Amino acid sequence: MKIARTIEELTRARPLRGTGPRTGLVPTMGAFHAGHLALFAAARDDNEVVVASLFVNPAQFGADEDLARYPRDEERDARLAEEAGVDVLFIPSADELYPEGYATWVDVGDLGNRLEGDFRPDHFRGVATVCLKLFNIVRPDRAYFGQKDAQQAAVVKQLVRDLNLGLEIRVVPTVRDEDGLALSSRNQYLAPEERDAALALPRALATKDAEQARELLRDLDVDYVEEANFNGQRVLAAAVRVGKTRLIDNVILEGDTP
Ligand code: AMP
Repeated sequence: MKIARTIEELTRARPLRGTGPRTGLVPTMGAFHAGHLALFAAARDDNEVVVASLFVNPAQFGADEDLARYPRDEERDARLAEEAGVDVLFIPSADELYPEGYATWVDVGDLGNRLEGDFRPDHFRGVATVCLKLFNIVRPDRAYFGQKDAQQAAVVKQLVRDLNLGLEIRVVPTVRDEDGLALSSRNQYLAPEERDAALALPRALATKDAEQARELLRDLDVDYVEEANFNGQRVLAAAVRVGKTRLIDNVILEGDTP
């Protein structure tokens, strides 16, 4: 596996789109768990070349969020990526992607203002911008996202459609722990008793009923529990805070993607 830290190194390490080997990109913020590994495996199955990016994108964090304490372990991540068959791991610095004078942002419209966007203003602007940059740098044929972040996947699909990016977005089903909690890098923040409390989230969503879910979540600090329609896929989505940790999850009510 090659590690590229600059756009120039990455450009040298990847084939050009349309010139032969198919490339799959898996954008991540690191602290890999089995959810990330499922994305790598899907990309490995579908493509000749797999590029993963590891970038804790400051532009998608609010001022009062966990950017500074977001879990980082580059050495472990590089080992796991290599074992998963990733060919190139792109680990740019913030200055590499947002050099001085950086000024251009993607406005994702109404989809970016609802649900997560309501509680995290500018979050999806940051997500869409960094994804567009990664797509332009890596030039993948396909990019892989998790159903766990259903609204993010919907925003990225809209970005690709609206800006004619000409790549395919594939969505991989949510990977859960045995107890039902969706895997998340942020689960590391949970103390054991907080983790027990957090289990109310998958249990509530498993009812597939917003009202029942709200009732089961009454002891947690709930940002939202709502039915949403993302590109024709109906989901029950929720965000809760357990102590200082904010968790999101969703279940599909109906629709065609995982
Ligand atoms: P992150 O590093 O948390 O930004 O996640 C990188 C990608 O992995 C995103 O597309 C997420 O939706 C996806 N992902 C995160 N957790 C899971 C999970 N438990 N199951 C499936 N995909 C996930």
